[in-house]
Amino acid sequence: LVKHDLPTVDSTLNDIEPALMNATLFMLCRNKDLIAALSSIQNVEDRFNKRYHYPWTFMNDAPFSKEFINATTEMASSNTTYVQLEQHEWGLPKNLNMNRALQTIRDMTKQRIIYGFSLSYRIMCRFNSGFFYRNSALKDYDYYWRVEPGVIYSCDVPYDPFRLLRDKKKAYGFVVTLPEYPETIRTLWNTTRDFVKKNPHYLAPDNSLDFIVDDEKGLDGEYNGCHFWSNFEIADLNFFRSDAYTDYFEYLDQHFGFFYERWGDAPIHSIAASLFLNKSQIHYFEDFGYYHLPWSHCPSDYLLHANGRCICDPANTVELEYEFCYPRWYYNMRAPDHKLESKV
Ligand code: GDP
Ligand code: MN
Repeated sequence: LVKHDLPTVDSTLNDIEPALMNATLFMLCRNKDLIAALSSIQNVEDRFNKRYHYPWTFMNDAPFSKEFINATTEMASSNTTYVQLEQHEWGLPKNLNMNRALQTIRDMTKQRIIYGFSLSYRIMCRFNSGFFYRNSALKDYDYYWRVEPGVIYSCDVPYDPFRLLRDKKKAYGFVVTLPEYPETIRTLWNTTRDFVKKNPHYLAPDNSLDFIVDDEKGLDGEYNGCHFWSNFEIADLNFFRSDAYTDYFEYLDQHFGFFYERWGDAPIHSIAASLFLNKSQIHYFEDFGYYHLPWSHCPSDYLLHANGRCICDPANTVELEYEFCYPRWYYNMRAPDHKLESKV
């Protein structure tokens, strides 16, 4: 494996109060996710935030219960904000053909496509694709760290990842990359290609087409499904607020693929990062230990594992079990002048 960009321990660690970036921990969830949410918050606090006290922002399409607010406020070491989403953020796009959407749901339920039966899952994917970063509670932040209920951060995070993004001029950070279920995104790539052909100025000069398209055809090739798993994301919100991303989202939304298919926010964020950012702006948090059902990423480096007090098994790390997208990531990130004999 190529080791790149491994951070050194943050020098602010010994400060009594490290200077904070303009950033928030962010969780979208329901009241019924409370126990899993508490588990994630406790974990992120213990592994990271008890030394930093970044604020938490919680969002829900329904009002948060008193019980949820009380318990999460106690668990967090910092300020917490609770947001009930509005109809324009959590809902259906204008001019959606509801009959067609319902027919898709019926068809995908029969075909047992994952979450194919669910309208709320589609609304969630649309929200996570196009709305979270415009919500007034996130509007004044530059960076966010997405935390889902029930995930495990299995190593200490001994430095400030927001600061790492800022210092290294990164806009998007991931830990796990996997191929998407092709049945959920049948026309996503064609729609994306049309968008980029209409807006070629948005394509970054040193983009990551080599990560998401296997052959040398670039945009004219086919999407290999590789995406950054968006249940973990540490990213610059200004990337999502850029003209390129917001125009891309509007274009996708007007093609109704969240509802006539089952487009996920993960491939959309990932395709956008791959096309509109330069390679150098995407960061692989290789040193993070992370688990979200059913996959884990565990640092293989012995010293990182020990120093990070990791509890994950490096033998169960996703890139060994499910070997598809990581080699493409490394291929994409190869030194530009380095000619590989054969492609991975
Ligand atoms: P998966 O990771 O693709 O299996 O999907 P999840 O069920 O974990 O949902 C992704 C994120 O959206 C999680 O943070 C959930 O808590 C959240 N989420 C999913 N559906 C809803 C919903 O209907 N309402 C709210 N408020 N949050 C939701
Ligand atoms: Mn999840």
